[in-house]
Amino acid sequence: MPELPEVETVARDLRTAVVGRRIMSVRLGHPKVMRFPVPEVLAAILPGRRVEAVTRSGKFILCALDGGEDLVFHLGMTGHLLVCDAQSEPARHTHLRALLDDGRELRYDDARRFGRILLGPRSTLEDSRVLPVLGVEPLSDDFTAVRLDEVLRSTTRTVKAALLDQRGVAGLGNIYVDEACHLAGVRPQRRCHTLTRAQRAALHAAIPAVLVSAIRNRGSSTDDYRDIWNARGSNQERLQVYGRGGRPCFRCGTPLKQATVAGRTTVWCHSCQR
Ligand SMILES: [Zn+2]
Repeated sequence: MPELPEVETVARDLRTAVVGRRIMSVRLGHPKVMRFPVPEVLAAILPGRRVEAVTRSGKFILCALDGGEDLVFHLGMTGHLLVCDAQSEPARHTHLRALLDDGRELRYDDARRFGRILLGPRSTLEDSRVLPVLGVEPLSDDFTAVRLDEVLRSTTRTVKAALLDQRGVAGLGNIYVDEACHLAGVRPQRRCHTLTRAQRAALHAAIPAVLVSAIRNRGSSTDDYRDIWNARGSNQERLQVYGRGGRPCFRCGTPLKQATVAGRTTVWCHSCQR
């Protein structure tokens, strides 16, 4: 499932590929992916609109249009945004094809359809809750030690559960929570209110560190994540714990533990993490 580094990679590439481009026409596939508004309205609004900016918020990609709306994508589990030649064969399960004025197409495909496409002024999307209220951006100046302390000290949940919650820190998922916990030396199943000040500080440093490094490697293609050019990232080759249960810790050699924490498969080193 794409997390912040994968979504950031897509958003950055999309910025160079579609900002300034006008949408000429739209073809839609499965209506389940078009969450808001109904597909007919989406198809009526998009043609003629120009993309003015592309930004990311948590795991959401927002394309600001010259009509004041945002065209918003969430990649869900298996969603892909592609920019390709309009003549090329579409992937199976392509739900949106937007022909651009440079002859290319912006396409969204999603086999499992857990992703979503939204369109509207941002305030409308937020007021109607189709765009949820998100917590602090971990790569922004707002992500201070004090802010993370507020998230961690206000709950008795596990660190894993608290960091997966998009209302606390936006953009983290199963991969990068486990990676950040390993780098910080904190077990993911630790209860937040029992963390020491030093452990909270270590998490505050580790979270942006694992994200920045993953963005540099263009994200982790642990399953079917691809960028907008349909290329894989390379960060999966550098993951320390995710997907490595039972194999030796790169730092100390101890076999890594694996268990379900907060409903998700979780991997940690019982020796390096406390
Ligand atoms: Zn270890």
